[in-house]
Amino acid sequence: MSRVLVIGGGVAGMATAIALRHAGLDATVYEAHPTGADGKGAFLTIMANGLDALRAVDAEHLVLDRSFASRDVKMRNGKDRALGVLTIPTPDPEKVIPRTLRRADLYRALTDEAQRRGVEVVYGKRLVAARQEGSVTAFFDDDTRTGGDLLVGADGVHSTTRTLIDPDAPRPDYTGWNIVMGAVRDVLPSSSRDSYYMYFGTKASCGHTTAPDGETWWFANVPCGEEELAGATPAELRSRLGELFAGDRIDTVEAIRETADEQFMATACFQLPTVPTWSRAGMTLVGDALHVASPVTTQGASMAIEDAVTLAHCLRDIPDTTAALRTYERLRRERVERVVNTGARMLGPKNPGPLLRMIRDWAISRQTRKPDMDWLHLHHIDWDSELTG
Ligand SMILES: Cc1cc2nc3c(=O)[nH]c(=O)nc-3n(C[C@H](O)[C@H](O)[C@H](O)COP(=O)(O)OP(=O)(O)OC[C@H]3O[C@@H](n4cnc5c(N)ncnc54)[C@H](O)[C@@H]3O)c2cc1C
Repeated sequence: MSRVLVIGGGVAGMATAIALRHAGLDATVYEAHPTGADGKGAFLTIMANGLDALRAVDAEHLVLDRSFASRDVKMRNGKDRALGVLTIPTPDPEKVIPRTLRRADLYRALTDEAQRRGVEVVYGKRLVAARQEGSVTAFFDDDTRTGGDLLVGADGVHSTTRTLIDPDAPRPDYTGWNIVMGAVRDVLPSSSRDSYYMYFGTKASCGHTTAPDGETWWFANVPCGEEELAGATPAELRSRLGELFAGDRIDTVEAIRETADEQFMATACFQLPTVPTWSRAGMTLVGDALHVASPVTTQGASMAIEDAVTLAHCLRDIPDTTAALRTYERLRRERVERVVNTGARMLGPKNPGPLLRMIRDWAISRQTRKPDMDWLHLHHIDWDSELTG
């Protein structure tokens, strides 16, 4: 294998490129946007399993250096009454715990690291077609093309590669809600560090965490049509959230009220539980192109990094590409589908009300029962083990 074409420069694409270089393979990233995805979104949390996967390819520091610890989620109702505390599983409470960071910082760090390791990143290249005749050729929307030995689709929830591999591939389901996110400084104290606060109001849920530097990062789950918030101005979003949480006593609402216009963003949330065909004709998938779990799992980026490292591991050890991709699917399919199904049980499509109650009940019950999520958070990738086809 001499050259891998990675389509998409988000978390999955950059982690794939980094892992491929660690495995001694060449990779080029083709990103549709002119400047990459680094302006998108607000913040995310990388779980212990995501950090473990980064550690396998000597990249854990990229997250540790620009993040803060997130040990637990404090659940409260709309009357500001405590419902329970959900402790996020970690292999070693003294050292590695889930970490929260700005999305833009993660994109930038991964991109810089990929380039430092010799990866070429080409912007403004949107994949539109691919053909395999011995090697694989990628065709872009600017009428250019390029060839390689393998094409990895890391092109996100609305992946083009997914439909090139299988024109009948399922489309992601809209969950029935958008997430609005934002950031504001010096409104809520950073006195309770290391915690997320999650509020279950009368009509919707929201939450926040405050970084050590005093910046509060918040989110609100808004039940609505898929496109309903697409063109909304920040003032409209602020007022929509004001109506949704009117009558509730929730600290997050204070942060929302004080947030500057340019800090608002809204995004529709999808779910993709299963993709029947993972690989075909010199092409495969990683990250949201392959599986989309509800954001409530906070696992999308971590699972994307696991995919990336496992794929590189397979390609490093198994010379026959078809056999390597078969092993990749064998190692990953059950796990990624289980994550999506777990998320769907917590907060599923089209029905946020009862399911919000379910997640709250689930969180409360976890205080008295032995946690059963270790399979998810404490997953370990042994990079030094030798894989066989
Ligand atoms: C509101 C919200 C909050 C979330 N919070 C968390 C969290 O706390 N923790 C967590 O782990 N996950 C979280 N997630 C999920 C996480 O963001 C994603 O799972 C993760 O970023 C997946 O990355 P990706 O690289 O697969 O896709 P993306 O980040 O979507 O990247 C895909 C890239 O491919 C490019 N692209 C698309 N089509 C083409 C094409 N045809 N040709 C070339 N390039 C193309 C796009 O421009 C983009 O840059 C959250 C998601 C949402 C919506």
